[in-house]
Amino acid sequence: NSAAWHEQERRFLEGWGHRKDVASLSRRQLPVVDPNRAAHFLNQADSDWTQAATREQLDEAIADWTPALPPQAGDLDETLDTAVAAAARWSAESITQRSEILHHAGQVMQQRRFESIAEMQQTAKKAIAEADSEISEAIDFARYYAEHYPQYADIVSTSLGVVVITPPWNFPYAIPCGGVLAALMAGNAVILKPAPETTDIAWRMVRQLWEAGVPRDVLQFYPCADGETGKRLITDSRVDAVVLTGAYQTARLFQSWRPSLRLYAETSGKNALVITAQSDRELAVKDLVRSAFGHAGQKCSAASLAIIEAEVYDDPIFQRQLHDAAASLKVGPSTDRTSVVTPLIREPEPALLRALTQLDEGESWLLEPQVSSNDPCNWSPGIRLGVRPGSWFHKTECFGPVLGLMRADNLDQAIEWQNDVDFGLTAGIHTLDEAEYRKWRDSVQAGNLYINRPTTGAIVQRQPFGGWKKSSIGPGSKAGGPNYVSLFARWSDAAGDV
Ligand code: GLU
Repeated sequence: NSAAWHEQERRFLEGWGHRKDVASLSRRQLPVVDPNRAAHFLNQADSDWTQAATREQLDEAIADWTPALPPQAGDLDETLDTAVAAAARWSAESITQRSEILHHAGQVMQQRRFESIAEMQQTAKKAIAEADSEISEAIDFARYYAEHYPQYADIVSTSLGVVVITPPWNFPYAIPCGGVLAALMAGNAVILKPAPETTDIAWRMVRQLWEAGVPRDVLQFYPCADGETGKRLITDSRVDAVVLTGAYQTARLFQSWRPSLRLYAETSGKNALVITAQSDRELAVKDLVRSAFGHAGQKCSAASLAIIEAEVYDDPIFQRQLHDAAASLKVGPSTDRTSVVTPLIREPEPALLRALTQLDEGESWLLEPQVSSNDPCNWSPGIRLGVRPGSWFHKTECFGPVLGLMRADNLDQAIEWQNDVDFGLTAGIHTLDEAEYRKWRDSVQAGNLYINRPTTGAIVQRQPFGGWKKSSIGPGSKAGGPNYVSLFARWSDAAGDV
C-alpha cells in the first residue's frame, strides 16, 4: 500500500530531526575528513549514563547487585491450567485497566533501570550502553502498546487465550518484555520461557511487571530447558500461540513439532550496508562500525556485510578510517564499563569460528580478529576484505564481531548482492543523493531500511521491527508497530442495531 508506505517514510525521516530531508543533506557542506577522527568519536557513548548523576546511581546499583536467583520451572500441567483460567479472567478486564497496568510497568522499569543494567552487565555480558538502550526500548514498548491499542480495540476483539513467549539471549530484557506486553495488552495469559543463558534478567523483568500490577497467574515464568519440556510446552493444545525470536531452524523445528501452531517468529538475518560514492564517508564509517560490532555483532540486525562502491572501497583514507575505528573499540569484559566489544555469550560455534579464523579465495584481513588470552569468548573485531558474490561469507549468518567488505562497480550491483541472500531483516544505505536512495528503497528486500544511520537500534513506533523472506515466519506484523498487538486477538465485525 503505497500511501501507507509514504506516510511511514515521512514519519521515519521526520523522526530523525536534522536528517529530515534527504535532498537537503546533499547540499550540506561536508567536513574536511580527518583520518583519525572516526576513531575518537566512536568511543563516546551517547546515552545519558555518562553523565555524573546517573553514573553515581549506576555505581550504587552495581555495588548492590546480588544474583536474581530465578526459581526452577514448576509442574507443566499446573502452569498451563493456571494460564487457561487466568486468561479467561484477564480478557474480561477492561482495555483501560490493562492499559493502565502497562503504563505503570513502564514506570517501574524506569525506576529499576539501574538494577536491570547491573544485572545485564553481570550476567548477560552486555556493555552498559547496550543494556541501557535495551531498557529504553522495553519502556517504549510499554508506553506505545498502552497508548496505541485502546484507540481501535473497541471493535469487537477476543484474546487468543494462552501465549508462550520464547525470547533470545541477545536482547534478554527488551525482546521478552515486548512480546509479553503485546500479548497481555490484547488480553492473553502469558507463559514466558526465558533463554537458558539469560534466565536471571528475564526473572528480574517478570518481577518488575508483577510489581506494576500484572497478576502472577496472568504472567507466569517458566524457565525450562530447551529440550523435552520445551517441546511439550510448544506442542500442548492449551497453548494458542507462540512467539519466537531465534534461529530460522528453531522456527522450522517448532513447526515440524506442531504443524497447526500459530507461530510468530522473527528469525535470522544476513544484513548489508551499502556505501555509495555519494556518501558522507566519515559518517558511513561510524555507522558501519556501530552496526557491525555493537554487542559484538550478536544482533539479528547487525550489518555483517558492507557493499561499497569501488571509488570508496579503493580509497586508502576510507580503509584506514574503518580499520582505525574498529581497532579503537575497547575489547574487554562487560564489568569494565569502558569495554565496547564485550565477550560472546559462548565460545564461537563452527560458522562463527570459521568467519573469525579462515579466509576464502580472494579475501584478506583489513583487521584480523584476535581472541583474548583471558577469555576464549572475547574476540576483537575482524574485517575481511574482498568478499566475493556467492561466497560462503556473503551468504552465511555468523552472529559475531566480523564484517566482510564487498567491492561493487555501481549501485545496481550493490543492490543485487544485498538482495542475494536468504534473509531480509535489515538493510542500510549511505548516500547523500536522493535519486540513489529512492532507487535503493524501491528495490531492496528487507523489513527495516535505514538511510544514513546504523542498521541496528530500531526505535519502537518509528521503526517497527521485523523482516521478509527467511527472517520472518507468520503474518509479518512488526514488533513496536501499529498492528502488532492485534496479532494476539481474534477479530469479529458486528453489524445491525440492538
Ligand atoms: N531490535 C534490535 C535492533 O533493531 C535487534 C533485535 C535482534 O537482534 O533480534 O537492533
